[in-house]
Amino acid sequence: MSLVIVGSLAFDTIQTPWERRERIVGGSCTYCSLAASFFTSPKIVGVVGEDFPEETIQFFKSRNIDTEGLEVRPGKTFFWEGHYGYDPNQRETIKTEMNVFRDFRPKLPASYRKAKIVFLANIDPDLQDKIVTQMENPAVVAMDTINFWIATKPEAIWRVLEKVNILFANEEEIKMLSREINIIKAARKVLAKGPHLVVTKKGEHGALVFSRDFVFGVLGHPCEDVVDPTGAGDSFAGGFLGYLDKTGKLSRPELRKAAVFGSVMASFAIENFGIERFKTLRPEEIEKRFREFRRLVSF
Ligand code: AMP
Repeated sequence: MSLVIVGSLAFDTIQTPWERRERIVGGSCTYCSLAASFFTSPKIVGVVGEDFPEETIQFFKSRNIDTEGLEVRPGKTFFWEGHYGYDPNQRETIKTEMNVFRDFRPKLPASYRKAKIVFLANIDPDLQDKIVTQMENPAVVAMDTINFWIATKPEAIWRVLEKVNILFANEEEIKMLSREINIIKAARKVLAKGPHLVVTKKGEHGALVFSRDFVFGVLGHPCEDVVDPTGAGDSFAGGFLGYLDKTGKLSRPELRKAAVFGSVMASFAIENFGIERFKTLRPEEIEKRFREFRRLVSF
């Protein structure tokens, strides 16, 4: 199969209770494609300004990420600032600057349109819609979103959801979108709109995968030292979809394994600031952590 990922490429300023980092490389597409690159060769769609480091683009290429759909435009790269409290699941968005994303009209390269899996990572839902309509015959359309878009463009999100098979979002976001306080009711509301799977991420605690006829729970890897929780959600989606793309199967057991690989990739992303951990990560470490996950839940 093949995997197209559209989303943000960003500079992030991150503050945790212990440390602050200014303008480090981040973005939903960045995290997701790097995580997926350990399973397959993803094709990315997005826009950056002339200030985006060439070194990062070279890093993408070295990981076999196809950058044909990445535009470099005059202007500044998307910027986001987030602060975390002592609970890594609680974060506050301090600033969001769209910059070059404001006038971005994504156009999929011809070589991308036949891809079988497309991931609409967290960006403006109207842009997500524009991408999905350019795909020829995808087997899986997945999407993610965050509270910023749920608060500002909920109707646009519901519109895209009608074309989506898998929704990834944090538990609070799914509750906020469906205006339900119970996660099962909230997931059912989303499933009624079209998606076959709702992956509700629960931060460091893992995720619950809801379908119309089964629920599957996956733990987060117990991590003593969460350095920077940013990108955990996108890395989860990258591991999940990258694994599905690699196996080419959508059976129930493969979906379960995909969720575990998602959790594994998220657990690596948070071990260092920004994308640093992906620069040193080796496939053997992924396999080892996957085996640890199996031991953790077998009884
Ligand atoms: P995650 O921690 O996986 O939920 O995603 C974090 C990434 O999302 C950061 O690297 C940000 O640059 C990016 N991000 C934050 N807000 C937005 C937004 N409104 N649109 C697109 N990307 C965003």
